[in-house]
Amino acid sequence: MFKANKNYLNLQGSYLFSTIAKKVAAYQEAHPDADIIRLGIGDVTQPLVPEIIKTLHEGVDEMAHKETFHGYSPDLGYEFLRSAIAEEYRQRGCQVSDNEIFVSDGAKSDSGNIQEIFSEDSRVAVCDPVYPVYVDSNVMAGRSGAYDQAAGRYKNFIYMPCTEANNFTPEFPKENPDIIYLCYPNNPTGMAITKERLQDWVDYANKIGAVIIYDAAYEAYITEDSCPHSIYECEGARTCAIEIRSFSKNAGFTGVRLGFTVVPEELKDADGVCMHDLWARRHGTKFNGAPYIVQKAGAAVYTPEGKQQIREQVGYYQKNASAIYNGLKDAGYTVYGGVNAPYIWLKTPDNLTSWEFFDRLLHEVNIVGTPGSGFGPSGEHFFRLTAFGSYENTVRAIDRIKNW
Ligand SMILES: *Cc1c(COP(=O)(O)O)cnc(C)c1O
Repeated sequence: MFKANKNYLNLQGSYLFSTIAKKVAAYQEAHPDADIIRLGIGDVTQPLVPEIIKTLHEGVDEMAHKETFHGYSPDLGYEFLRSAIAEEYRQRGCQVSDNEIFVSDGAKSDSGNIQEIFSEDSRVAVCDPVYPVYVDSNVMAGRSGAYDQAAGRYKNFIYMPCTEANNFTPEFPKENPDIIYLCYPNNPTGMAITKERLQDWVDYANKIGAVIIYDAAYEAYITEDSCPHSIYECEGARTCAIEIRSFSKNAGFTGVRLGFTVVPEELKDADGVCMHDLWARRHGTKFNGAPYIVQKAGAAVYTPEGKQQIREQVGYYQKNASAIYNGLKDAGYTVYGGVNAPYIWLKTPDNLTSWEFFDRLLHEVNIVGTPGSGFGPSGEHFFRLTAFGSYENTVRAIDRIKNW
């Protein structure tokens, strides 16, 4: 008789967004006239910029002619896109070559799949609160140990609390991890890491022989020069870091799907195994390439017109983030994030739990956000608002909170 991968039974229910949806639906049904504003969404809402739309159309037309038709793309991505990405790294002073870039259908797949090239008995360290993909993909692979319901944590993972006390940048853990997941600018806290602090992490990883999986999905939102856009801005990162990037939050590709991962040639395990070769093998075996049309549109992100247009679009969301951040501050809230990321992480007033605050916000001012406790125990008493709504709705929501 066949047997299931029982590790899956160890996954904890992902109740966060379904519970939110249920609560909002119940409230709307009881109050059909309520004008609910949603600031909980983690998806972009603005349409693709004209330069990308134009390029997508061109790609579609090419597919209509024998001479310009494209079938399977090269395993690791089209050279025109990989070289455009590598050139951007060079302009930032990072040493990343074309063949170290692996084009994919997005950062979620890559951040979930990357653990496959590491040993099953690797010790995994994650931030708390955390983007759930890093945790769940390692649970599926059998690295988690049992779940401790009371603690809200898996026994074999190393949790690194990100709190007000450490300015939402974790301390080095007491036990040595093998794999360290870092995401900066961070979802959900909206906080960035300084180059100095990230350099400390790179030095630490090199010293203990750990690998850092660095998720930089929100680098386009960085406004402060002290914050690195890439981990490869740090010295020594090529021997300890993998970087994952996305076209979703900078260029609005959430429904188009494109991302990439950088695995430097110098990244070797304890026995000298080249991780670049393993990821190339894994990618080539299990992935048949992102669509030509989409990769072509991805390259448009790096053209002068594309760059200018997506900068304006990111600016639109950044304006929302500022409006939320400053509005909440004026209203007397303790707020974090919002400066280098499209997320605002606010401390709930009067020591309310994250869910108590959620209910009051929904019932009393008809605004939906995301309870911080849904991202991990250290997110309790925090609440996430996102800048991905329309400017008009964002301003209306903040006015409601101010007059609450
Ligand atoms: C949105 C997001 C991504 C992007 O995922 P895609 O699959 O590229 O859309 C990756 N990491 C984090 C932390 C995110 O919030």
